[in-house]
Amino acid sequence: MIQKLSPDQIAKIISAKSCEIRSNHPVSQVSIDSRKIFFGKETIFIALKGTHHDGHEFIEQCYEQGVRHFIVHENKFADFNDLAFPEANIYGVKDTLLALQQLAGWNRSLFRGPLLGIAGSNGKTIIKEWLGQLLSMYYQTAKSPKSFNSQIGVPLSLFSIAAYHQAAIIEAGISEPGEMQALEAMIKPSIGLLTNIGSAHDKNFHSRIQKLEEKIKLFTSCQLIIYRKDQTKVAEVLAKNFAPERLVSWSDHSEADYILQVKKDVDRCRIILFRPDLSMFTFTTPFTDEASLENLRHVIVAALTLGLSFQQIQDGISQLSPIDMRLTVKEGLRQCTLIDDTYNNDLGGLEVALDFMETQRQKKHRKLILSDFPQLKNQKEVYQRVSQLVDHYGIDQLIGIGTNIQKELAHLKPRAVFFKDTEEFIQSQVLQQFEQDLVLIKGGRSFAFERIVHALEEKVHGTVLEINLNALSHNFFFYRGQLPQHIKIMAMVKAAAYGGGAAEIANHLQKLKADYLSVAYPDEGAELRRKGITLPIMVLNAGPENVEQLLLNELEPVVYSVRMMEIYGAYCKSAGKKLNIHLDIDSGMRRLGFDYEDLDQLKKLIAEYPKLTIKSIFTHLSGTSDPNHDAFSHKQLGDFESISNEIMTGLPYSPIRHALNTAGILRFPDHAFDMVRLGIGLYGISVEEKSLGQLRQVGTLKTTVSQIKRLKKGESVGYDRKGIMPTDGQIATIALGYADGFDRRFSNGNGYVLINGQKAPVIGNVCMDMTMVNITGIPVKEGDPVVVYGEGIDLHKLAESIGTIPYELLTNISSRVKRTYYLD
Ligand SMILES: *Cc1c(COP(=O)(O)O)cnc(C)c1O
Repeated sequence: MIQKLSPDQIAKIISAKSCEIRSNHPVSQVSIDSRKIFFGKETIFIALKGTHHDGHEFIEQCYEQGVRHFIVHENKFADFNDLAFPEANIYGVKDTLLALQQLAGWNRSLFRGPLLGIAGSNGKTIIKEWLGQLLSMYYQTAKSPKSFNSQIGVPLSLFSIAAYHQAAIIEAGISEPGEMQALEAMIKPSIGLLTNIGSAHDKNFHSRIQKLEEKIKLFTSCQLIIYRKDQTKVAEVLAKNFAPERLVSWSDHSEADYILQVKKDVDRCRIILFRPDLSMFTFTTPFTDEASLENLRHVIVAALTLGLSFQQIQDGISQLSPIDMRLTVKEGLRQCTLIDDTYNNDLGGLEVALDFMETQRQKKHRKLILSDFPQLKNQKEVYQRVSQLVDHYGIDQLIGIGTNIQKELAHLKPRAVFFKDTEEFIQSQVLQQFEQDLVLIKGGRSFAFERIVHALEEKVHGTVLEINLNALSHNFFFYRGQLPQHIKIMAMVKAAAYGGGAAEIANHLQKLKADYLSVAYPDEGAELRRKGITLPIMVLNAGPENVEQLLLNELEPVVYSVRMMEIYGAYCKSAGKKLNIHLDIDSGMRRLGFDYEDLDQLKKLIAEYPKLTIKSIFTHLSGTSDPNHDAFSHKQLGDFESISNEIMTGLPYSPIRHALNTAGILRFPDHAFDMVRLGIGLYGISVEEKSLGQLRQVGTLKTTVSQIKRLKKGESVGYDRKGIMPTDGQIATIALGYADGFDRRFSNGNGYVLINGQKAPVIGNVCMDMTMVNITGIPVKEGDPVVVYGEGIDLHKLAESIGTIPYELLTNISSRVKRTYYLD
């Protein structure tokens, strides 16, 4: 519990007054509670004085349990340092709490690893728990138990740091001025994290600023301090007190060390991380509430600061369990309410879920759909308990799915019905009879209960992105036809194939005999491999931390810096493995890539690491679609040619060279080298004159008319009453909003949709899930299809009207929008 201490050391650490040494037994345990003494002889008991109790009263009791070391108040020293405790070492001090803290500080001082100290008003405990769970996957991590963050809680936390720990997380809470200094003196965090400043304990401080200034005292000796920059007061106070190089900021929009944007989908969120070096990574999480997302982002930044890789963090956060067990409630068919808890099945979780069910709006019947429990030794007991719970919570019908549950709970018939698997239940009449029920769906992953949720869920969302695979073929062959036969085509399927859905499109491209595919991230590539894609895949944004995943999935990373080259090289050398790589040359884009100055070092590394096979050398042009930049493009192409030549001299093989994107293919056909990288054109968007009218639309974003209303001239429409009806007429509400990716800047006539072939402009503000359009004069009925992007809509003009480009419109289509694929 504490690293071994001799009586002399103790006396010195706590500056004890007179102390006669009677027991030389070293101390390894610290106790402040006589009921919790486990190894009397090795324990030091510290007599704390609280408002309700006085530790000095329990000294005799401790002595009987074998305790031989006592820290007492100096006034009481004489009382105890006498014959009643002949073997005891009594240490008298001015302040016993301080002595406790000094011992804790000493234990902490032996720890050499990173120690993260957390302060702030909300979220400390959850951040600590989550970060602790995450770090523990990779390091031996000590952390404060529960929310032990007070003057007494912190010392107890610090005692739990042992010699084998590699990292520690300690939270610090204060309720009045002056407390943080004492905590800081013990904790001495090497990294600090400030969650936020809320109203807790306001009354004990003159002002929020004073409270904030008190809290940040925890960071006095921190090398780095993590905080959210969007909290302007926090940012100001930290900037005033700490040098900028010590501050690690994150924000969801403004300039910061990490930008972490949240994109919400129906049942999960994506957290997109941007760094100043333009590297990007997308984390996904099942958490969708604001507080969790804020806490999670603190966890991500802390983990990055502690040196975890993106992938390690993703792997870790996908396993985080909600500390407060959040269950999802969904509207079901026939006015059922669904409680979706389909991710695991264990007894503890079942009790929590049933408890939660109790708190839901009353419905006629409570139904529980439950799978087999994982095979356990105490199988019988578990099912007995389930049986009790079903009674206790008044479940009207139990639907048991699996062979074990059927056996063990057979006595619950006829209240219970059983099915051998999920499919059998979905096909049954029982499911059809659900009506106005409150349904808890809880099953182990292997039972795929999400299918049940899907079958029972209300499908209100009529928006789909239809992908025409024939159009894709057409566009592919159009570009193919513009190029000499020997030029290869790399098809860009990054960002889910520009929104269209990577796996299906990649599969189709494989049939069309594309030569290469390219994705943005290793995960995207791994997903393609799982879906059976065998083409070579270049990965634009892989890091050395992904090397295992790359090798495992035969993915080929782009290498754009000397540092990366060294890490990959050294790894493959020591692992004895070969890796195919692609060298990115920065010829003027100033984004990623080797610079001219890197050449000598690069060549040296190529020679040094023959395990790295250079599959290709490429550059990316920055102005291919605009003739005004032609001189610059030519200079880029020229520089690329000479740099790549230089790299290739002396290589015993010839890598593929490539430079052109969609616009470049048609505008600089003489510079195709060996391969081109075809992106947006494949999806039917022409980005220069030559392809105008030649391409076919691949994706059609469609929704439906939910309702039609008749309005008088001058009536206002939607939020903030921004839309004003220009004439008497009709509007239609369509089932698509900014959460689907229909940009809110399309509000108030900036955007339009097509209904029955006619343009209907947006009226009023685009809402989250709905938009109103003016259909005056257009024949429309409720339920009619609406084309949002597709044939007849100029995506360039539409994008331009809100200051963006078609690429962004396509890639912003939310993942909650169902993709369907067809051949026409
Ligand atoms: C996205 C991308 C492309 C494709 O660009 P398009 O304009 O869509 O054809 C080509 N090369 C690189 C490096 C890219 O990132």
